[in-house]
Amino acid sequence: MDVAHLMQRAEEFCAEMGEEYYQNYAGLSDEFRIVEIVGKYPELFSRETYDEVMALEPDGEDGIDERELKLLRYFVTGNYFTAATKELVEEKEKKEAALTVEHKGEEIAYRSIPVVNANEEDAGARRELDARAQAALEGELNPLYESIFEKTFSLTGELGYENYTALTEQLSGLKLGWLRDTMQDFVRETNDLYRETLDEYAWTLLGLRLSELAQCDIGRLMRADAFDHMFDRERMVPALKDTLAGMGIELDKQENVTLDLESRPKKSPRAFCIGIRVPQDVRLVLTPIGGAQDYSVLFHEAGHLQFYAHMDAKLPFLYRHEGDTSVHENFAFLLQYLTTDPAWLGDVLDKLRIEDYVRFSRFSKLYMLRRYAAKLDYEYGFWPKLDFESARRAYREKLTRTLLFKYSPTRALADFDQGYYVAKYLQAWLAEATIRQHLRGEFGHKWYRNEKAGDWLRAVWAEGQKFDIHELLERFGLPKLSYKPALNDIREHLG
Ligand SMILES: [Zn+2]
Repeated sequence: MDVAHLMQRAEEFCAEMGEEYYQNYAGLSDEFRIVEIVGKYPELFSRETYDEVMALEPDGEDGIDERELKLLRYFVTGNYFTAATKELVEEKEKKEAALTVEHKGEEIAYRSIPVVNANEEDAGARRELDARAQAALEGELNPLYESIFEKTFSLTGELGYENYTALTEQLSGLKLGWLRDTMQDFVRETNDLYRETLDEYAWTLLGLRLSELAQCDIGRLMRADAFDHMFDRERMVPALKDTLAGMGIELDKQENVTLDLESRPKKSPRAFCIGIRVPQDVRLVLTPIGGAQDYSVLFHEAGHLQFYAHMDAKLPFLYRHEGDTSVHENFAFLLQYLTTDPAWLGDVLDKLRIEDYVRFSRFSKLYMLRRYAAKLDYEYGFWPKLDFESARRAYREKLTRTLLFKYSPTRALADFDQGYYVAKYLQAWLAEATIRQHLRGEFGHKWYRNEKAGDWLRAVWAEGQKFDIHELLERFGLPKLSYKPALNDIREHLG
């Protein structure tokens, strides 16, 4: 089989699909043609290609080694699922994009609800909007989600895997059982700390008792607009440029990156970074509104952007576009958490209330780690047997028990990360704390002002995702993946 040609087509497909995604989510086009574009690359999505790739031998005449072959197998398997579900996914995307619900006498876009909710001060109005959002989800989108899951479930069996968890573990090397167990330990270790601090912040920031708290209040709680005055919108992009300059990166001189920060009516409220052609054309999309979350999101996406932008153009396609995305998320977190680092905050912002914000940011991180721990536990339990009723029950119970406010079963399928992305985020959170500790040890507390730290990062970034997160830590002699460094950081500032 002509692997080189297949990879060239994969690169072309990524560029075309990426451009389509960018145009739609940046609010430049209403179209989102998944079916049409996938149809132009039959060789990437066919059963024949899948069978041929699975039968390839490493280091044979096809010129592919074991490491690349592993990624190629995961890639074509993912493609095979994409091909089988593309009509359903496109229908779901179109329906979701067009869906509106009523809020205070106006029709608002379904996709904008998280943002509207986060800025809604009235707890009663949040509950009304949430009830309408859930009704729309249940009536319009959940039937499509069910069809997508049914299709994925039956394909997994057809390809000879026991279930989707087994498929993921065998093809990607993720140790999902281990990660689930270790994160359950984390949950047990932080039960008291979480209950106390959630109780405190619900009261001080929202005026609600723990028993009154609902899922629709969390966006509002995490919005934390009490800290808005510290995070000035005008200073946000200059702060990013200045921080990168400290590491020897001149953002304005990077010809391969685009920052799309313009406001457009149909632009997605969710920021994202996309590699159209890596590293030649990488884009970051965000609508700045100000506030701590904006800084956090901009720096997160800038982490993705810089990782992509510094990858060696000569790397094989699979190391630039595929591989362990825990590595990607880890570098995104590394820049994101600068905006919660006391030293960085002291450099960049007015000194007012930094300690309060640093403490709150650790509470926010504790919440996220517990939420993803509960989600992984739920998703891990989901796959062995397709049963939507028990899945909804499990989702409500596991998330409610871990997060201490009522989760609705309605979101059991919508709040689900495809391809076990939930595990990638968790690994990235654990790894980031370890790598940050390493950078501080080597280059000082203000490592982000040290060009040598920039050199270190650029050397790692150049390798793309050739190595998975465990290998990455091992290569630098860092401790194995564990939640201890992240927990220590949380305890230091929140305890
Ligand atoms: Zn990310």
